[in-house]
This record gives sequence, C-alpha cells and structure tokens, in this order.
Amino acid sequence: MIERTLVLIKPDGIYRALIGKIIAQFEDAGLKVVALRIGRVDKEFAGKHYAEVIEWLENIGAKSKLAYKEKGIELKEENIEIGRRVRNQLLDYLANGPIVSMVLEGNHAIYIARKIIGVTEPRKADPSSIRGKYASDSYDLADARQRSTKNLVHASEDSESAKREIELWFTKNEIVSYKRSDEDIMYE
Ligand code: GDP
Ligand code: MG
Repeated sequence: MIERTLVLIKPDGIYRALIGKIIAQFEDAGLKVVALRIGRVDKEFAGKHYAEVIEWLENIGAKSKLAYKEKGIELKEENIEIGRRVRNQLLDYLANGPIVSMVLEGNHAIYIARKIIGVTEPRKADPSSIRGKYASDSYDLADARQRSTKNLVHASEDSESAKREIELWFTKNEIVSYKRSDEDIMYE
C-alpha cells in the first residue's frame, strides 16, 4: 500500500550536519521525498504539531515516575504536570532551531519510517536505526538538564496523524509527483 508520512529532522540533526545521511536512510529503503523544506517555526506552530493529548501527557508522567522510583526518588508531581513540563521543553526546543520537514511516499511509508528512526529514547534505540546509530541521549540526561530529548527525528505515528501533520506542514501545491527509476520494481 502506497502511503505518505511526515518526517522532521529536529535541530540536533541539523546542527550535527546529518541532514544528508538521515534522508539517505529513507531513500535507500525506497521512500520517495515528495516535499522538502528547511525553516523555523514558532512555539505556537510546534504546539500544533505536538498537540496537547492528555493521554500522552499522563503516559510521559507515569514513565518518568517509574524511572525515578527505580533510582529511589519519589516524584511528588502529578503525572500530567510532568507531561506538561516535558512537552513544554520539546516545544521550546523545536521553536529555537532550524527544522527540516519532508513528506515521504512509498510502500507502507508510515511503518517503514518509524522502523528506520527507531524507538524514542536514543540510548535504547536499535543501533541500525537513525536514533540508535547517530544519537546517544536518554530521558535521564534530558531530565537532569531540564531540556528535550535529543533524538534527531520525528516520523508520524499512524495514518491519522500522518494526514494531520502533512496538512499542517505543507500545502497541496508543495507536494510534487514524479517517478523514481526503481519504482516499477518496488511498487509493482
Ligand atoms: P516519538 O514518536 O518516538 O518521537 O515519541 P513521542 O511522540 O511519544 O514523543 C515526542 C517527543 O517527546 C520525543 O521524540 C521525545 O523528544 C520527547 N519525549 C517522549 N517521551 C519522553 C519522556 O518520557 N521523557 C522525555 N524527557 N522526553 C520524552
Ligand atoms: Mg510521536
């Protein structure tokens, strides 16, 4: 099934000059770049991308509490407060650096892009994934320094968020149509 997904290279990926290497991973797996831009966004826009989803906030808080408990520290804040703090750090981070945004198209694009980027925390990401190969950050370090996790990339999670995010970042006119030379082999 041919799908489209939204991928972002976060500021750490750009500062570390990894734009080319990151895009190459997707292209090598057969995903086609059909829209591409480098630019900056403000915090309000970043907040639209990472919309305030209560379940996500609660989940981040619960994860954090558990991690601290394992270290013998009892966090007193509500889960949602911890979630809000993490989201706020994330929005500050995205609003204060350059971002490459792109739409990728291809077989199972949403699942394949998620597989290529790896799990959220670079420390735990498979070494063959972008986050595991090019990054080493952890929630621990991010929390200790009160900043966002530097995990290089974003890729849409499911078809609903892919649709919403593509519409947020690009107009229809900015998405181009062309044929890759290996398309007949990959897409037949
Ligand atoms: P992703 O889809 O793998 O990027 O993960 P999410 O959509 O769940 O989270 C969005 C971003 O928030 C991640 O890429 C991280 O930068 C950050 N993040 C997610 N979970 C945590 C967490 O438990 N602690 C911290 N510090 N940051 C987190
Ligand atoms: Mg996500």
